[in-house]
Amino acid sequence: MLNEKILREFETILGKERILTSKEDMLSYAYDAYVEEYLPEAVLFPKTTAEVSQIMKAANTNRVFVTPRGAGSGLAGCSLAKKGGVVLSLTMMNHILEINKPNRYAIVEPGVVVSEFQKEVEKIGLFYPPDPGSSMVATMAGTVMMNAGGMRGIKYGVTRDYLLGLEAVLPSGEIIQTGSLTAKDVTGYDLTRLICGSEGTLAVVTRIIVKLLPKPKARRTLQAIYNSIDQAGTTVARIVEEGIIPATLELMDKMIIKALEDFAHLGLPLDAEAILVIEVDGDPESVDKQAGAIAEFCRGQGARDVRVAQSEKESEQLWVARRGAFGAVARMRPACVIEDATVPVSFLTRAIKEVITIAQRNQVQIAVLAHAGDGNLHPLVLCDLRDKEEMKRVDKAMDEIVDFAISVGGVLSGEHGIGIAKAKYLSRQISPQVLNLMRALKNTFDPRGILNPGSFLECAQ
Ligand SMILES: Cc1cc2nc3c(=O)[nH]c(=O)nc-3n(C[C@H](O)[C@H](O)[C@H](O)COP(=O)(O)OP(=O)(O)OC[C@H]3O[C@@H](n4cnc5c(N)ncnc54)[C@H](O)[C@@H]3O)c2cc1C
Repeated sequence: MLNEKILREFETILGKERILTSKEDMLSYAYDAYVEEYLPEAVLFPKTTAEVSQIMKAANTNRVFVTPRGAGSGLAGCSLAKKGGVVLSLTMMNHILEINKPNRYAIVEPGVVVSEFQKEVEKIGLFYPPDPGSSMVATMAGTVMMNAGGMRGIKYGVTRDYLLGLEAVLPSGEIIQTGSLTAKDVTGYDLTRLICGSEGTLAVVTRIIVKLLPKPKARRTLQAIYNSIDQAGTTVARIVEEGIIPATLELMDKMIIKALEDFAHLGLPLDAEAILVIEVDGDPESVDKQAGAIAEFCRGQGARDVRVAQSEKESEQLWVARRGAFGAVARMRPACVIEDATVPVSFLTRAIKEVITIAQRNQVQIAVLAHAGDGNLHPLVLCDLRDKEEMKRVDKAMDEIVDFAISVGGVLSGEHGIGIAKAKYLSRQISPQVLNLMRALKNTFDPRGILNPGSFLECAQ
């Protein structure tokens, strides 16, 4: 519990101007992109690692709960002060410290926004592939802590694949360095990758070293339109099976197409059952060849129309639809809960059809979006939190989606994390022995349990 004495300690470290305590000021820190609300007791804005360290020392000594936070765009409630205490916002630590072209790495502070970092590295011919749909707001540390994926997962993998090292502050206030600047490093346990994806429960990240790739010289975007979800899903599975590796392979179902048309009037066909948005990148000649081959492939699998963008501008237009999908659907009802179950890609079509059946059986509205090439479904469950009857049906539908994913060898979450949104399902995928190991790790990092309490491990059933 935060009391006056501890607040004064935080003021000595940060000054009053970098602490929020009034309810009005803190309200936006009571939410992320999940649906629950937890008002913190204070919000702190450190600017240096030394300040983070002093804050953690004071919090640990006085057993004040601390929940780190980036942009608050998470979809699982991970950045919320679920048991009270302070929110530690890292958004003022937002400098790109180094972009090293000869060795292809960069060092950034935690609060750097992903898309801004991407723009900076691209200016000098480099490329940082992780590309969550939220890249315009999400922070580098937020994406490290959630091991965020995104549109380019099928070819380039996820955030963890680009992480070389971290500077982090332990709950005790000690500062540690993990990893290195080198492309290879097998010295000891890989704590960098352990902290990555830990949902802010093990340490506060204050610096991040990432590896960079050369920027692809060309890209080509395609849009394939289908009269049947089967044909679209099968196209995805066959593309993967054939060993064709596009940079992105995204699927939108009928409800998303309609929501987008109502919202942005993009001229999408309202009678289509599904659209695939596909992008290839690489050298100009190979990109043309790949785009041609994929267009042919899609037609062969039953696409009724395939459009290949002929310019950067046209490519952007095709992406507007995919990037606008969340927003367009979210307008339809007071709330939208985003599912993230992921299946082996050969089960994608079955999974989408199962979601549609589950929606009908439980009388809930579910639109389906997918990072299809990764088998990563994003069923968008539309609802009204005030309607208790409807929320019971929503809960049941989510439960059934999770069960289906697990039954075909899939997972609870491909990229959005567990948080409070999915903690109750954890034991369906993870054995008691593994959960115990995870708890022991948490206890080693944070013996007094002050960092991000109420997280997935505590709520696991
Ligand atoms: C429209 C939309 C589209 C999205 N698309 C994608 C997508 O394509 N792929 C995807 O993976 N996700 C996606 N997301 C989810 C979300 O954007 C990601 O989870 C992102 O990584 C969160 O970053 P953030 O800066 O907002 O972090 P927050 O939500 O603020 O925090 C996330 C977690 O990181 C911890 N944390 C933050 N900073 C630190 C730090 N410095 N030290 C320790 N812990 C820290 C927090 O405690 C919390 O546990 C989307 C969200 C929205 C709203």
